Amino acid sequence: YDLFCDQVIEDLETYSSIIIESGLTGKIEAGDYAHRDKNIRVTLVSGSGEVRYDSQADSLEMENHGERPEIMDAVATGEGRAVRKSSTMDKSTFYYATVLQDGSVLRVAKEAGSIWSIFGRAFPIIIIILPLLLVGCLLMAHLLTKSLILPIEQLAKNLDEVEEINAYEELQPFIAMIKKQHEDIIKNARVRQEFTANVSHELKTPLTSISGYAELIETGMASEADVMRFAKGIHKNSNRLLTLINDIIRLSELDGTEQEDEFEQVNLYTLAQTCMDMLQMNAEKHDVSLTLEGCDSYIIGNKQMLEELLYNLCDNAIRYNNVNGSVNMQVYPKREKTILIVQDTGIGIPEEHQDRIFERFYRVDKSRSKSTGGTGLGLAIVKHIIAKHGADMTLQSRIGQGTKITVTFG
Ligand code: ADP
Repeated sequence: YDLFCDQVIEDLETYSSIIIESGLTGKIEAGDYAHRDKNIRVTLVSGSGEVRYDSQADSLEMENHGERPEIMDAVATGEGRAVRKSSTMDKSTFYYATVLQDGSVLRVAKEAGSIWSIFGRAFPIIIIILPLLLVGCLLMAHLLTKSLILPIEQLAKNLDEVEEINAYEELQPFIAMIKKQHEDIIKNARVRQEFTANVSHELKTPLTSISGYAELIETGMASEADVMRFAKGIHKNSNRLLTLINDIIRLSELDGTEQEDEFEQVNLYTLAQTCMDMLQMNAEKHDVSLTLEGCDSYIIGNKQMLEELLYNLCDNAIRYNNVNGSVNMQVYPKREKTILIVQDTGIGIPEEHQDRIFERFYRVDKSRSKSTGGTGLGLAIVKHIIAKHGADMTLQSRIGQGTKITVTFG
């Protein structure tokens, strides 16, 4: 509508300049020319607003035009424009006024459709187009949604063959993530299943012994000396069961991520000292000497976990040692980090097993592990604790020479 208005006013401007340039204004004033075009109304007004000529009314009967906005503008700035509502609702009158050399004002005016009449004319077309547009949009939306959802539906139906899904580019990162998560879930499920099977197996052995000993005593087939021996067997096996169950519970506690572990500032050196004191007897039993070197080293960690870590590493170093062997622990700060080294002169770990000893129930020599009270879970617990502390661990080991485990905190 604005464009339309501009166009009408522009037409009026052209019209008035033609009248002026063709010298018609002089003739009009002299009464020599009467404008007959019904569509365009020409009015000549004096500088003071008095109407001298009007092509559609008797100029003498017309009131003073000095107050009309387009005339006032023309007198003030040289030209003026205005749009006013006509007597008929659906029309507007457009005015363009320009000042002449002698100070009088020439005004040309034209009636044209108002915004309502233009809208009224466009309305039927809009009414027809709107439902068509709506139907078109619905159809497009339907097709688009379908094509957007299709790969996701395929994905939901068959997560195993993700590669075969022909997905659009934007969906690729999502599919890649789902694929990875799916693989992780499958892997975790397998690990858990294996773990359950292992746990059952590990629990079964001591329980079978206990049950066997008890049965022999129950039937009265055992002599007094035997009863003592069997009771010892029952005691040993139930202790083993308890250690196993404790380790399993500890592992599942470390697995659970819900509860926040309490971290505080701890002196790793003091913890190592306590650990050494605790294991002193054990070491003597195995004819192994224990030494600790280093100085106070503070780290942010969970005290109980760190105690377990030290205990498990040190206990292994004693248990997999030789007679007259030694275990050396070192704790010291190095730049911003803290180093813990547990080194033994023991049997060592064959290279092909070194990667796997941190797995649950993985043992290089099952009978040695069992006879020394091992559960196969110690290093799995160590690995968890190290991960929880954001620490790093390296293992160096040679068969017959010994093992060195270095943990770097910080
Ligand atoms: P275990 O209760 O059997 O000791 P761990 O998880 O603590 O279980 O260790 C896994 C296996 O790694 C052990 O069975 C043993 O074969 C090997 N191992 C661990 N520490 C040492 C070490 N210091 N020297 C030699 N072998 C070790």
